[in-house]
Amino acid sequence: MSLRSFSDPDTEFELLISEAGDRGDGHQVGEPYGIRCVYCGATIEIDGPDGHQTAIDDLPHATTCPQRDVVSQYYRDRFVR
Ligand SMILES: [Zn+2]
Repeated sequence: MSLRSFSDPDTEFELLISEAGDRGDGHQVGEPYGIRCVYCGATIEIDGPDGHQTAIDDLPHATTCPQRDVVSQYYRDRFVR
């Protein structure tokens, strides 16, 4: 089983940045509120400044997405030893 890390240079994700500050979820303007997979377009909201480090593990990728194997370092350390 080969898993790639969120931080590997050959993986591509896009941080969604709050622009209006009126989303009502507590995120400030310029603060990241979500992550999008650039291949299948799946998105997930993140909870706070450090949420992006583990939110990657819950991205609902399409079944054909080439980045389905990408997980966080946290996930690898915890479940893939
Ligand atoms: Zn994907």
